[in-house]
Amino acid sequence: MTSIASNLQKIYSELKPYPCQLIAVSKTYPSSAVQEALDAGQLDFGENKVQEMVDKYDQLPKQIKWHLIGHLQTNKVKYIAPFVHLIHSVDSIKLLKEINKEALKNGRVISCLLQIYIASEETKFGLSFKEAKSILIGEELKELTNITIVGFMGMATNTSDEVQIRNEFESLQNFFEEIKNSVKLPNLNLTHLSMGMSGDYKIACEEGSTMVRIGSAIFGNRS
Ligand SMILES: *Cc1c(COP(=O)(O)O)cnc(C)c1O
Repeated sequence: MTSIASNLQKIYSELKPYPCQLIAVSKTYPSSAVQEALDAGQLDFGENKVQEMVDKYDQLPKQIKWHLIGHLQTNKVKYIAPFVHLIHSVDSIKLLKEINKEALKNGRVISCLLQIYIASEETKFGLSFKEAKSILIGEELKELTNITIVGFMGMATNTSDEVQIRNEFESLQNFFEEIKNSVKLPNLNLTHLSMGMSGDYKIACEEGSTMVRIGSAIFGNRS
């Protein structure tokens, strides 16, 4: 068994008790590594850069489901709109409008997650709970019929403090439940919470994650 395959098998068995899906984060790794994981049965892959995702899409079998997990600029939406499976990193109504426009051009409905800022670290990306709520209850979202918001994505603080990580994931799970119970829209179908990476996915699963985004624990450390 190759090491990518055995790493995948180990993670699959750890995820088994949970309703949680694995997104294999292949950023910086070559297409050959993706092919190896695909051969081991992994179909969902995450990339954080548009160009790298497009290149791998072109090179690799078309049954792969591509997840964009990194910051997306509005002027780059057009490159991924024909094929992207899920965009995890939506952080503005402006970006949602652009995704809607490009989805329409491609005759598609594109699934999106709102990226919510839950860590105590400085970061440029992600919405506060308040900002996310104002998008979700706003008038503009109602007109976007070629996108569906299927949940939220969050990244916990990069810390060894497990209590803090757990609290951050729990805060997103609570927000998810609150919105699910209070906001009803045709283009809102809250089913996914994308939380957990190589260092904290076990905690994320315990706190209700439905999608873990794991890179280095599958493919090895990035150089
Ligand atoms: C790189 C990345 C991951 C995976 O990180 P690992 O620590 O390698 O598992 C998950 N989510 C996002 C948004 C990333 O950029």
